[in-house]
Amino acid sequence: MLEGKIAVVTGASRGIGRAIAKTLAAQGAFVVIGYHGSLERARAVKEEIEAQGKKADIYQCDVADFHACETFISDVVKEHGRIDILVNNAGITKDGLLMKMSEEDFDQVLATNLKGAFHTIRFAGRQMLRQKSGRIINLSSVVGVRGNAGQANYAASKAGVIGLTKSSAKELASRGITVNAIAPGFIETDMTKELSQKVKEASMAQIPLGCFGQPEQVAAAVAFLASEEAGYITGQVLMVDGGMGM
Ligand code: NAP
Repeated sequence: MLEGKIAVVTGASRGIGRAIAKTLAAQGAFVVIGYHGSLERARAVKEEIEAQGKKADIYQCDVADFHACETFISDVVKEHGRIDILVNNAGITKDGLLMKMSEEDFDQVLATNLKGAFHTIRFAGRQMLRQKSGRIINLSSVVGVRGNAGQANYAASKAGVIGLTKSSAKELASRGITVNAIAPGFIETDMTKELSQKVKEASMAQIPLGCFGQPEQVAAAVAFLASEEAGYITGQVLMVDGGMGM
């Protein structure tokens, strides 16, 4: 249980982040719902959490912006005094074949998915070092492990998240801070909704369990890695993918 813990979840206005926010709140954490553009949806997540008798607040921050992340984390610490759990979930895709991919599409995906996680770890990590405790969970992807045609930018960002996770785990371990990654497979959210039927069928053919995943199934793995019971696990990549990455 996470009673009394302060949890920051980026990209919590929708999809997997929303499920993570709700699950951590249900287990007793005060949840900081990070969002970028979806103010109304972030407010709705806060209301859903409060309707369960739990606590949350919303904070706007573009994770791709170093200084905005500094302000975001500093505001959370000023308001709540500590950060026990940081979930780097915010992410985007800008798919396209490598030979046609623009520099802008490559840079934007790296800036949000990889640098975004660096930014928040850089600032929240400092607070966790002072506390001598903390849990950091970064969202990678099966694509970061295996690669995927049409997603060179996204795969590079998610492979980078694994390197960032392992390096941070080594740097922060001596102060009781664990850093792990979760690599989801195909999860039903806005991100995958727009994929063509052909891509969906090709993905399904690679999933031994024979079904797509749900945001709540990823959230359950995040909640475990955030728990006291997971205190001896660090630097790991947990695949939540129906066996896709085997
Ligand atoms: P989603 O439904 O598209 O939601 C993305 C979330 O990220 C939104 O809350 C969005 O906030 C936020 N976000 C995007 N750009 C941001 C920025 N610059 N700053 C702050 N927040 C930003 O995505 P999802 O499917 O839930 O994915 C969540 C995470 O899991 C991502 O890291 C994704 O790469 C990873 N993942 C997903 C799958 C899958 O199959 N869905 C598989 C593997 C990994 P606003 O709406 O407020 O703008």
